[in-house]
Amino acid sequence: MRKYVVMGVPGSGKSTQGAMLAREYDLVQISVGDVFRWHVKNHTKIGAQVRRIMAAGELVGDDLVERIVRDRLDQHDWNYGFIIDGFPRNRRQAEFFLESYDIDGVIYLDLPDSEVRRRVLARRLCSVCGMDYNLIEDRPKRAGRCDVCGGELVTREDDTPDALAARLRDYHEKTNPVLELFRRKEFVFGVDAQHDPETVQRDIRERLGLDGHHPVRPLEEDDSARPD
Ligand SMILES: [Zn+2]
Repeated sequence: MRKYVVMGVPGSGKSTQGAMLAREYDLVQISVGDVFRWHVKNHTKIGAQVRRIMAAGELVGDDLVERIVRDRLDQHDWNYGFIIDGFPRNRRQAEFFLESYDIDGVIYLDLPDSEVRRRVLARRLCSVCGMDYNLIEDRPKRAGRCDVCGGELVTREDDTPDALAARLRDYHEKTNPVLELFRRKEFVFGVDAQHDPETVQRDIRERLGLDGHHPVRPLEEDDSARPD
């Protein structure tokens, strides 16, 4: 059984990489962002909640994220393991997660902020139903129109360089403690996420010791021996 977590800044390709790995190794993929999109698309109660939050450019709250992850893992249909992204988002969730599951590895998709800016500023949002698009990697079938409802795609008001810089700061602040915790347990496998998806995937498998490779234990930045 394989249990992996994928981490990385928004736009680093977590869900794409998770899907590729899941397909090859029969893992259940839990992509918190995709679960939210599913709810939006299917007009569930959670979907309505998420749509309001996304339209305001805010992050979905920890409680909702936690509930979705727990509900999904409680289904126990992951015979060969799972791969999860979008969780854990803070240290408390990470500790809970480590207590409940033996994690085999944390894949960290490393992407410089400049590349994040390029990708994030290509994002579009449906003005009617709130679905997310990306003009680089997740284009709508018809330019400027939502695949789900045909609504007009717009740029999110807070997808400006300044707002993005603030969000990146916030993201790093929240997730650095998570990464630090995982690194201390030698779980983290860093991968350069600037390459095309196939190359990134190959690097991930190599690092994790899949496909007959021997696992390459990471030599991460020195953040050891810092007392709590
Ligand atoms: Zn729409």
